[in-house]
Amino acid sequence: MDIARNSVVTFHYHVATNDGATVDTSQGGEPMAYLHGHGHIVPGLEEAMAGHRPGDRFEVTLPPEKAYGVSDGELDMRLPLDVFPGEARAQLKPGFQFMAEHPNKDGESVLFTVHAIEDSEALVSGNHELAGATLVFKIEVIDVRVATPEELTHGHAHGAGGHHH
Ligand code: ZN
Repeated sequence: MDIARNSVVTFHYHVATNDGATVDTSQGGEPMAYLHGHGHIVPGLEEAMAGHRPGDRFEVTLPPEKAYGVSDGELDMRLPLDVFPGEARAQLKPGFQFMAEHPNKDGESVLFTVHAIEDSEALVSGNHELAGATLVFKIEVIDVRVATPEELTHGHAHGAGGHHH
């Protein structure tokens, strides 16, 4: 069957930046499964998947807006360490993540990652590490099936490559 809304799609992927550096690949591991039409994969890839069927291989190049978004300069910040509550301050190190409100968009929460601690400041970013990147996806569609009623209720794919409870 062709990939359409509420298909459960199993696929192998290889993702690289447009200068050829590999970002991620499922080759050599388990393929990934997702419920099509629910925004679980980046928008440009979901659009490109539609209509494909098992056995199809294709390549698609996605600009940042169709992948992990453009980089938002307002989300790259230096924060004085004393804005963090004491218990969080004790855990601050590169890789530490926390949710906070967007500095200029009321009510929009953003996941920030600490990239460095310098003197009395934390360098943090709320941009996805692939924000701003043009990405080349090579896809091999392995399987396409109709979602079960339970998967539709949960809003995600179950089983191999999908969600486990
Ligand atoms: Zn579930």
